[in-house]
Amino acid sequence: MSTDKLIEESGKYVMNTYGRYPVVFVRGRGMKLWDSEGKEYTDFLAGIAVDNLGHCHPKVVVAIQKQAQKLMHVSNYFHIEPQIKLAKLLCQNSFADRVFFCNSGAEANEGAIKLARKYARENHGEDRFEIITATNSFHGRTMATITATGQDKFHPHAFSPYLGGFKYVPFGDLKAVADAITENTCAVMMEPIQAEGGVNLPPDDYFRKLRDLLDERGLLLILDEVQTGMGRTGTLFAYENYGIKPDIVTLAKALGGGAAIGAVLATEKVAESFSPGDHASTFGGNPLACAAGIAAVEAVLEDGWLLSECRRMGEYLVKGLNALRRKYPFIKDVRGKGLLIGMELDFDGADVVKEALKEGFVINCTMQRVLRFVPPLILTEDDVDGLIAALDRIFEKRQP
Ligand SMILES: *Cc1c(COP(=O)(O)O)cnc(C)c1O
Repeated sequence: MSTDKLIEESGKYVMNTYGRYPVVFVRGRGMKLWDSEGKEYTDFLAGIAVDNLGHCHPKVVVAIQKQAQKLMHVSNYFHIEPQIKLAKLLCQNSFADRVFFCNSGAEANEGAIKLARKYARENHGEDRFEIITATNSFHGRTMATITATGQDKFHPHAFSPYLGGFKYVPFGDLKAVADAITENTCAVMMEPIQAEGGVNLPPDDYFRKLRDLLDERGLLLILDEVQTGMGRTGTLFAYENYGIKPDIVTLAKALGGGAAIGAVLATEKVAESFSPGDHASTFGGNPLACAAGIAAVEAVLEDGWLLSECRRMGEYLVKGLNALRRKYPFIKDVRGKGLLIGMELDFDGADVVKEALKEGFVINCTMQRVLRFVPPLILTEDDVDGLIAALDRIFEKRQP
């Protein structure tokens, strides 16, 4: 089918919930994507921080092929070998003692909210159910997770009534959390670095002090690492940067190396609150997704190479973006950690994204004015040099 015909039928048969670029990608390998016209692109979006290993990583591809031939789905009425192996791998490499598997980030956060509420009720009493989240956060698109998301644009009247029991505080403001805590509070849920909200980093000591505050009050810390997990910030999980241990962490995006999977990680003390019947998912932890997940986690951890590359290339990319910032006064800020990097402009970035596509680079813009770069962690200096040169050409045209 021709590209025009595909786009026409997409407009006719697919529900109209996304603003899409007129591009159909048909093949990917490493840092590269090819569209239906045969044009090649360098990918600095990675399917929104999903393809951390690059497109079609050979170990993930082989793991999926082998598992697909063997067993794809049986249900959680039975023990599942790849699920057990992936849970063990995640526990051995994190703060966690136990894992629940689901299929997406929103679902992982739903599970975390249920677990935190049950834990707080059982351990502290009937009135403990409220969860404090941050403004400009993003936690997903289900009813509970849009409510948890501290952005008005995700709360239109059309979807009301919203779930009760959420309260928002400015991200990075410790006093605001302290002031928001009441006898009803059960947990604080935050991203270690806000990604969709414009790549916002908290003050250096924020999470350490927040952890102390929550320990004093007997409250849980839920970290939404759906985007920051799996090596994105240069460590397997972003909380490692802060020297703290959370009570619950949610994962999805890059966990399956491109395959759909989500997970809730928790300490034994907290996980104990879930008993058979409390939470479930038909597809959660299925053999196929978990086989992909095992390959992906192993590939991220292999020799520590990818994590150190992520840190090194993140610095290199920030250096290149800062050189542009010195040249163009309309660039307000460059910030990030590892390969989760934002460039704030003083104008709407949508056109820059379109121009970049024409130049053969896939980038993204969030919160209207923040260009976001979340490339595969395998990128090279050449990829970065190419992007910086393309952005330079695009920005040049904007100069008065
Ligand atoms: C993407 C994202 C989600 C939602 O994940 P889905 O798989 O789209 O449901 C939740 N939290 C964060 C921080 C995310 O980046």
